Amino acid sequence: MDYRKKFAVERGEKPRLSKIDASYTGKHESHEKALPEIQAHVESMDKLQYLLYADGNKSLLVVLQALDAAGKDGVIRHLFSGMNPQGTSVFGFKQPSRDEAAHDFLWRAHLRTPGKGEVVVFNRSYYEDVLVVRVHKLVPESVWSKRYDLINDFEQMLSQNGTTILKFYLHISPEEQLARFKQRLDDPSRHWKISESDYSERELWPQYVEAYEDAMAATSSKQAPWYVIPSNHKWFRNLAISQIVSDTINEMGLKLPPARVDIAEIRRKYHAAAAEGKPGEGHRAKKNAKVG
Ligand code: AMP
Ligand code: MG
Repeated sequence: MDYRKKFAVERGEKPRLSKIDASYTGKHESHEKALPEIQAHVESMDKLQYLLYADGNKSLLVVLQALDAAGKDGVIRHLFSGMNPQGTSVFGFKQPSRDEAAHDFLWRAHLRTPGKGEVVVFNRSYYEDVLVVRVHKLVPESVWSKRYDLINDFEQMLSQNGTTILKFYLHISPEEQLARFKQRLDDPSRHWKISESDYSERELWPQYVEAYEDAMAATSSKQAPWYVIPSNHKWFRNLAISQIVSDTINEMGLKLPPARVDIAEIRRKYHAAAAEGKPGEGHRAKKNAKVG
């Protein structure tokens, strides 16, 4: 199953979230049975990140958006922690600081977009400026409604500069969210995560759904598609996202750069002596062996 085809949002078409089964797992029966496939995708992501870094001409931006407890942190921990930290980063978007709020809404995001060769994951993003900002009426509609076009232009500009963009909405049901909040209550090591606002935001579920549906319909594009990922089952969420990310990087046309030196010459000049037991590297290695 190609999950890019299955879960992609079409431009201009509102994904009806209440009609999309958040517990979907396709033909996969269980976590245990899906695990080898997830592991293979994650390994492939790690290898491809090495290639992206070596290639040095393109970059990848992954945007994670969701309501609370849908699993953004879990996606980062399970799927992105195998990538080389030298070339991968994660940035979380909170309420704007005073300095951030003094600029246009894309400013703080633009500062964090990936440079050539890099992978960046946004845990929340500039989409908050058409989501939480809309739901809580932090700016008037005349302001947030113009942001869709600005976002499309921004993403097109990034894309033209060599950035591939993937946007995931982690779709959970309100019942699953409440069950996850309850698990946090029952686990003292996670009490620090609980906030009163988690519960008050739940009251605004329909408003958030409307804001998400509008935002995804207005900003899903060929260069920056949205995917609605059924996320009630954490393992299925990981399976679908890891497949989409690894298939996407795989098609970025990355290649290892050619060697900048004459490899045969380097081999002859610096390594031949060692192979023949003459003084040089080999001699030093033997001496060291004695000391050791
Ligand atoms: P968390 O991701 O749970 O640490 O929470 C971060 C909080 O910051 C969430 O409640 C977001 O809705 C909020 N947030 C992020 N970006 C913005 C923004 N541009 N304006 C207002 N609130 C924001
Ligand atoms: Mg939160």
